[in-house]
Parts: sequence; C-alpha cells; structure tokens
Amino acid sequence: MPSLQLKPGRERPLERRHPWIFSGAVDRVLGEPAVGETVDVLASDGRWLAKAAYSPHSQIRARVWTWTEGEPVDEAFLSLRLQQALAARSDLASQPNAAFREVHAETDGLPGLIVDRYADWRVVQLLSAGVEQFRGPILDLLAADDGVKLLERSEAAVRQLEGLEPRSGSLAGRAPDSVEIVEHGLRYAVDIVGGQKTGFYLDQRQNRLDVRSLADGVEALDGFAYTGGFAANLLAAGAARVTLLDSSVESLAGADHNLQLNAFNRQDYQLLAGDAFVEMRRFRDQGRSFDLIVLDPPKFAPTRAQAAAAARGYKDINLLAFKLLRPGGVLVTFSCSGGIEPDLFQKIVADAALDARVEAVIVGWLSQPADHPVALRFPEGRYLKGLVCRTAS
Ligand code: SAH
Repeated sequence: MPSLQLKPGRERPLERRHPWIFSGAVDRVLGEPAVGETVDVLASDGRWLAKAAYSPHSQIRARVWTWTEGEPVDEAFLSLRLQQALAARSDLASQPNAAFREVHAETDGLPGLIVDRYADWRVVQLLSAGVEQFRGPILDLLAADDGVKLLERSEAAVRQLEGLEPRSGSLAGRAPDSVEIVEHGLRYAVDIVGGQKTGFYLDQRQNRLDVRSLADGVEALDGFAYTGGFAANLLAAGAARVTLLDSSVESLAGADHNLQLNAFNRQDYQLLAGDAFVEMRRFRDQGRSFDLIVLDPPKFAPTRAQAAAAARGYKDINLLAFKLLRPGGVLVTFSCSGGIEPDLFQKIVADAALDARVEAVIVGWLSQPADHPVALRFPEGRYLKGLVCRTAS
C-alpha cells in the first residue's frame, strides 16, 4: 500500500488520534497513491500510525480512517461505522417525520461524510476525496434501509478544496418540492433540493426549543431568520410579536409558509427582507426596541485565517443588538464559525456590550445537539456556540 511518512516531531497529533494530517507535516509520499486512495501513515522513524484517505489537492493532505493496523478499509468497515452512527441516534429516528443528522463526518469516524435525515429522505454530502472514492458502496448502504430515499448534495465549497467537482441529484426519482418535518411539535416544509445547507439548520434544534422559555409576551427580533425556525418557537411559546429579518426573499417566503402551516396569526409577525447590518442600524435610528433578539448569522469565518474580519462582523451586529434591547432584555447570539473559538466569541460579545454602553450578564451557554457530537480528540467538531445575555433592567 502507498504511504505517507511524517516529518520528525510531527507525529504528536496523530498519536493523540486527531484525524487530520496537514500537508506541512508530510515528509514524503511513498508509491503513487491515487486521489482518495487509502494510504498507510508512518512516523518519521517508519513506525505505523494509521490508515488514511489521501487528498493531494487539499491542505488537509489525509484524513484518518483507522488507528487499528490490521483493520481493512472496505465496505464492511464503512457499513459498521454507518451502523454505529445510526444506532447512536435511534431516539431521534423514532419520532414521526423526524429531522436530524445521521452522520456527522469526522466525529462519526467517517471523514467528509454528512447525512441529514428529513422524514423518509436522506440528504447525503460526500465532501472529501476519501468518501468520494467509496461513493458507490456508501450510497448503496444508505439506500438499503427500507423506505428511505436518497438525495445527493455534494456541492459545498469544501469539495473544491479537495479538488472534487460538485455533484447533486436524486437517486430515487424526482425529489419533492418540499419534505414535511416535525420538530418540537411544529411543522416545517423543507426544501431539501434548493434550501441552504441540506435544507434546514438541524444543528439549532435544541436551541430553538430553549428560546421558548424566554418568549412569553415579548416583542422579538429574529435577525437571521431563514425559514422561521426560531420565530416559530417564539410564537408557539407566547411571543407578542416577532420580526423576521433575512437577506433572502426565498427564505422569508419559506418562513411565511411554515408559520402558516402552524396556523400562526399574520398579525403577530412581520417579514422584513434586508441586510441585518443595515436594517438594525435603521431600527436604531428610528428608536425601535425589542425585549428579545436572536442573532444566528451565517458562517463569517469558515477558517481561522478569516477570523479577524469575521470578528468585526460579529462585533457590529451584537453591538447593534445591544442598542436595540430594552432594559432587562435578552440577546441570544450565535456563531457557527469554526475559526472563532468559544472564548473569542465571548470576548467579542463582551466588547460589543461595552461599546454599546450596556451592562449585561451571561445567563446561558448554548452549543450543538447530540446528533452533532464533538469527539474529544477532534475539538474542531465544536463549531456552534451561543450566549444568552440579559441586560440590566
Ligand atoms: N436561525 C435559522 C438559520 C439561520 S441561517 C434557523 O434556525 O433555521 C443564516 C441566515 O442568514 C440565512 O437565512 C441567510 O439568508 C441569512 N443572511 C445572510 N447574510 C445576511 C445579512 N447580511 N442580513 C440578513 N440575513 C442574512
């Protein structure tokens, strides 16, 4: 088997079972591995360390499949890892019309593989050269469960970094315009073909439930509303009025559809298409205020390199939000940027409050749900963080 030999002193992360081998750690490539081929990873002294998928076009030059020397990486191996991932989520799967993440890539031992479940549809993303190499067997295994249908959406930007072309389409006839799911008793029509990510922000499931305890009687702003996930929960829990703001007109149309699906009253919510940075400034100039603001912006910093520019973006919107809050109001603010670590995010929010001249305390720390687990040896898996801040009354 071809192999990668590491530079002296670069073995430590791998010995600690971190699954990524960066290009800078590789001393030489022995043999001529094809894109995505399984290679042995060797220490500088030739010791065997792991088997990994070779990705010559990516800075992440290889992603580990296994640390067990004799373990073959084949269909049986993939099947076992998939079964383990599915078994860990059986509680979620048992709900009718459930929507949840079935496979969370590296954390489930399947680097680059995302599988999101929406009722009877599985939306699959193959995002690394390694899983692309096993595309056929992976799709066969995922299609083998009774009654499930597959849609591939291998179109994310990370695929480009791996040197892979985008690829998408239904593997079970025409995909429907929308799939109806139920989350916390609320119904949503999810556009699994054209919606953002795989159609719904599944990673916010628990947080959407948690905001209910803050909703009673409040006037709320859902600053990056998408298809209305937070807004629906706020209305369900007795919010007096919710403003849904989003730059995407289609997302807001989806939000309106979802809120109607749950029979909410149009007088209790307002849809506003626009840039949150601009609209929140306008609210400030108009003297508008809110009891509760949810900020769940898109990823400003996919990697650490973009952290500085992203930090300014987070500071700006949080500063504006603090200015729009009434005394005793609550800000629920998130960052899903892998490049912004939790401590840094908290510092940014603290700076925003300081500049807004608002006293606030943190009353809650939010994260990602159990179907988006974080392996202790792979802390990069923890990307979603949120703070609940209450301002002085
Ligand atoms: N909270 C949502 C997910 C939000 S995703 C949920 O639980 O489903 C982020 C949203 O921000 C997307 O819908 C995107 O269209 C929107 N967005 C991106 N840039 C924006 C901007 N500058 N102003 C307002 N909305 C923006």
